Amino acid sequence: MFETLLLNFLFLLLPVVAFLIFFEHKTQSYNQKILVLLSAVTMSLCIARPIKLEIGFIFDLRYIPFIIVALFGGYKNVFPLYVILNIYRFYVGGGGTVQSFLFSTTVMIIVPFFSKKFVKLHSRDRILWATLASFLTIGFYLFTLSFAKGALDKQFWMLTLNALTTHVGVMSIIMILIEKIITNIQNRDRIMQSERLNVVSELAASVSHEIRNPLTVTSGFLQLLNKSKTITQVEKEYVELSLQELQRAEKIVSDYLSFAKPQSENMVYSNMSAELEYTKNIIMPYASIHKVEVQFSFNNSLNKHYDRNQIQQCFINLYKNGIEAMKEKGGGTLVIDISERKQNIMIRIQDTGIGMTREEISRLGKPYYSTKAEGTGLGMLMVYSTINKVRGTIEVESEKGKGTTFLITIPT
Ligand code: ADP
Ligand code: MG
Repeated sequence: MFETLLLNFLFLLLPVVAFLIFFEHKTQSYNQKILVLLSAVTMSLCIARPIKLEIGFIFDLRYIPFIIVALFGGYKNVFPLYVILNIYRFYVGGGGTVQSFLFSTTVMIIVPFFSKKFVKLHSRDRILWATLASFLTIGFYLFTLSFAKGALDKQFWMLTLNALTTHVGVMSIIMILIEKIITNIQNRDRIMQSERLNVVSELAASVSHEIRNPLTVTSGFLQLLNKSKTITQVEKEYVELSLQELQRAEKIVSDYLSFAKPQSENMVYSNMSAELEYTKNIIMPYASIHKVEVQFSFNNSLNKHYDRNQIQQCFINLYKNGIEAMKEKGGGTLVIDISERKQNIMIRIQDTGIGMTREEISRLGKPYYSTKAEGTGLGMLMVYSTINKVRGTIEVESEKGKGTTFLITIPT
């Protein structure tokens, strides 16, 4: 029994290890297909080399990959697995084929139903629920088997004990491994993002400071020159053009400066209402030009220390992106909603614009990533950097063609 058990465990490790070594850095939808394929291989191997008990019974662990894929991937991903499983099972033939078909159909229908809730759980809860799911599934299977058998002898109870403990044990080990991999990937991404922000903000702070002084001096002298009585009209126009361009340069520099460390003179302790009102009013004209309706609701009494200028800039960037995403669709609604939940300030900024694919979402916040002709690709970087500084998190939900929701959680 022990040899076959180890062999089955090895089969189950196959997708986990292969994923970790070869596919982890690839895009997400590609990943899912590979994982489903690897799980199908694992299931077939499990059926081909079942675990043999000393008492003469056999059972296998095919439902472990099946349940994991069903819980993480939902109907879309488990269906191909279900088809492959049953084709292979019919090909193998023998007794119990019909039962296997009925049982796999039941699991296929019930388990993926919980997928949406499951993926939102915390790591530890996912391990628990997946283990419970395998316990219940196999328990149910043995329960139906007991009816088919009639008399429940000692052998049957031995099978039950073995099958249940093996499933629960193996499932929890595999789930712990999977969750560990997920956490590692997330941590690495988080470190990379904050590293990026550090580089940009340090560079931005030093360069902008250095450039700001010469800009101020130059524009001061140009203003003096502009007041001179000896220059001609044409020369005056040149000077004015230069002043305008200098102003633009100053604006860009101050945008970059907003990446820098929070300035103590801007720090406030407040509930963000003033900032939200102010920024909403600033973008109203921009919204109405593009036929965007703005819905605003404010319901927060929690206070927080933050840099006023940076928070304003951050909201403006988010609003602008929302409006720009709806501009291409000829209008829409921008919902700005701020509320509180369990000592967290929750900010929701929702648009009905063009939306993003998953790949596009994963690119958000990388320096210079922009899909717009005149975009700078710095807006979202600034947003992430600011929210990072107040220890908040940003969740993005988006559907191509439907719209995007940014959900910001700021702890107080
Ligand atoms: P920019 O606005 O200058 O392009 P950002 O950093 O603000 O730079 O945004 C980067 C990219 O992210 C945008 O070019 C756009 O493709 C995408 N994006 C950001 N917000 C949204 C949104 N609300 N809806 C759709 N796409 C968005
Ligand atoms: Mg932008």
